[in-house]
Amino acid sequence: MKDSIKSLSPEGLEKLLTSLGQPRFRAGQLMEWLYGKGVRSYAEMTNFPKTLRDSLSEQAPLFSPAVLEKKVSDDGTRKYLLQFHDDTAVETVAIPSYGGGTVEGAIPDKITVCVSSQVGCAIGCAFCATGQEGFTRNLLAGEIVDQVLVAREDFGARVSNVVVMGQGEPFLNYDHVLSALRLMNHPKTLAIGARHITVSTSGVLAGIRRLAQEPEQFTLAVSLHAARQDVRDRLMPKLANSTLRDLRGDLIDYTERTHRRVTLEYCLISGENDAEADLLALMGFCKGLLCHVNLLPMNAVPGSGLAPSPGKRTKHWLARLEQAHIPATIRHSRGADILGACGQLKNSR
Ligand code: SAH
Ligand code: SF4
Repeated sequence: MKDSIKSLSPEGLEKLLTSLGQPRFRAGQLMEWLYGKGVRSYAEMTNFPKTLRDSLSEQAPLFSPAVLEKKVSDDGTRKYLLQFHDDTAVETVAIPSYGGGTVEGAIPDKITVCVSSQVGCAIGCAFCATGQEGFTRNLLAGEIVDQVLVAREDFGARVSNVVVMGQGEPFLNYDHVLSALRLMNHPKTLAIGARHITVSTSGVLAGIRRLAQEPEQFTLAVSLHAARQDVRDRLMPKLANSTLRDLRGDLIDYTERTHRRVTLEYCLISGENDAEADLLALMGFCKGLLCHVNLLPMNAVPGSGLAPSPGKRTKHWLARLEQAHIPATIRHSRGADILGACGQLKNSR
């Protein structure tokens, strides 16, 4: 099977078109069709000669995902189960905000789409539904952008923010993820500002080092969840060979090089990572690091045997972090009633 046209970067598209004897401006037109208008076939590219459309479909077929299922949460969050041409499926979540409450039928003033980067995930975190399913395959750049296109079409409104916080570990699929972020950021496609695009990693150091070198100002989030090595090794077993010391060193380098703040995600799990010693370790990790801590009350994951920390404990952590002048917020994720919140995504019905 040949690769889909949407697996190509903007440079790759230019190369393909040059090899077909086409002028430079065609690449811009092609991106506008694929990502700006979001067409589902070459036949719709009416300003392309038929011979070019035929050669393109021969060289690089155009696939789009099927929406197998859509669920809408009481809070307006929508979750899509998407199926790609090889029958693999992922979930994507779109979170609208209406500058006030949820207004059915109104156009949201902000839409954040949470995209998946892989089918399943190999890291196997104890508290995450995706991790329980194992790893199937990497998503291609176009399949990541497709998720944003589905949400845009469904809402009939511009997508303002993207977070790579769905299924998968984005830095174990670095090249495709970066290509996808560049496509979304491109003025001819979705024109989403780099600062409005966040990529979240469980702590794959090679990826953090590479992102530090990229020219775009994409936002980095790191799923920390424990600042004590033994606790982290237990909760995030497949990361056991990268130490917290190395992670912190790479984050310091990242902030010095980019002058950008890193978001640290900390999912509070009762009796696992929420002791006073864990809090002190977190404060030590943050001291001297340009960061912001997001405390996430754990969302229910059936079969995990884990439960969220009591609300009182979460508030205590917030107060202690604030006292220590470490910027922090409690972030409740949305869409839990449709299993669309952080850590609840699976790639099946
Ligand atoms: N694999 C990447 C990207 C997924 S992001 C990563 O782990 O960073 C999904 C975010 O939700 C991560 O911060 C993840 O740790 C968090 N998460 C996973 N399971 C959760 C749960 N049950 N409750 C709350 N947050 C969870
Ligand atoms: Fe993978 Fe992230 Fe889930 Fe861990 S939290 S299993 S890294 S998707």
